[in-house]
Amino acid sequence: MAIWNPWHGCRKISPGCANCYVYRRDESIGKDASVVSKTGDYDLPLKKNRQGQYKLTADDGIVFTCMTSDFFLDTADAWRAGCWDMIRSRRDLQFHIITKRIDRFADCLPPDWGDGWDHVTICSTCEDQERTDHRLPILLSLPIRHREVICEPLLGEINLEKYLAGGLIEQVTCGGESGDPARPCDFRWVQELRRECIRCGVPFYFKQTGAVFIKDGKVYHIPRKLQMPQAKKSGYSYIPGTGSADAIRYQLPERRDLFGRLHKSGFRSRFHLTEKERDYIAEKGLSVIRSHAQDLVAKRLSAENPEHDGKQTPMKGHPVFIAQHATACCCRGCLEKWHSIPAGKILTENEQAYIVDVLMQWIGTEMER
Ligand code: SF4
Ligand SMILES: [Zn+2]
Repeated sequence: MAIWNPWHGCRKISPGCANCYVYRRDESIGKDASVVSKTGDYDLPLKKNRQGQYKLTADDGIVFTCMTSDFFLDTADAWRAGCWDMIRSRRDLQFHIITKRIDRFADCLPPDWGDGWDHVTICSTCEDQERTDHRLPILLSLPIRHREVICEPLLGEINLEKYLAGGLIEQVTCGGESGDPARPCDFRWVQELRRECIRCGVPFYFKQTGAVFIKDGKVYHIPRKLQMPQAKKSGYSYIPGTGSADAIRYQLPERRDLFGRLHKSGFRSRFHLTEKERDYIAEKGLSVIRSHAQDLVAKRLSAENPEHDGKQTPMKGHPVFIAQHATACCCRGCLEKWHSIPAGKILTENEQAYIVDVLMQWIGTEMER
């Protein structure tokens, strides 16, 4: 990985900018980050060493471009054409441009951009739902070969599934806010984004927890140096088809606690078996119903990314379906939210057996009603 900062300094335009690290770092050395100036590294992609070789080579990996400003900042309009010339001449490198100003992109392109350059990835940041709904339709409508979304600092729950569904976004990265005072990041928001990515088959990168991290309603203050390692350790980054979620450590809920929570949910507790369904169970016998449950769990829930996840369990047609809704075993999202079983992994035999036991316990109670 390499960093190319052709200019330095920026103007805040978005809630995500409130604790901008460029401002924080500059302030700490008595500098004004709102003053934008070209840096000595402006022509880094063309710089050569004494042997006459380029300083930046393909071996450096991704060249993150304009990390102490915004590439599409209007103050830098006069300098951008020169950057495009350098980018054009270095097709051996991979440039990643992260911007909060995707709405200026169309006005800032080189004349020969065409339908995009293969060695340039454009990453739009989306820190909340409002920014997401403003920026992603623009990102999707533009001629770009490689698009990514960066939800960092993640400031609230974001739904971006409809933007992922078209298959044009290649990765979603998310992370909490660092520094002081950092705004909190709730793990539930991370999980929700991740589930959306899984459903759409899009790689998800949980980059860092941020300084104030909420998990299961508890607030944790995470030191800077642990923010990335903790996110990595959680295992919540997701690469489709690699078994990346198998390493996630979690605990199945205690059964009494689970049924207590289900009982308190207005939605879950309104499900009951009809007389007809109870007759059906009595006629078949519980062991047959258990084998139906095993079958349904295996076929509809157990894949890494089950087909039509979230909609795979009908509201009628078999008593096991009703039990699934009543116990929040209806889809992988509910299994994660209620039972802590991570989405994005193939369910183990143990996990399937646990789900079947929960379903049968609920059915058993219904039969005694
Ligand atoms: S756009 Fe980026 S660099 Fe500019 S102020 Fe906002 S966070 Fe800082
Ligand atoms: Zn569900």
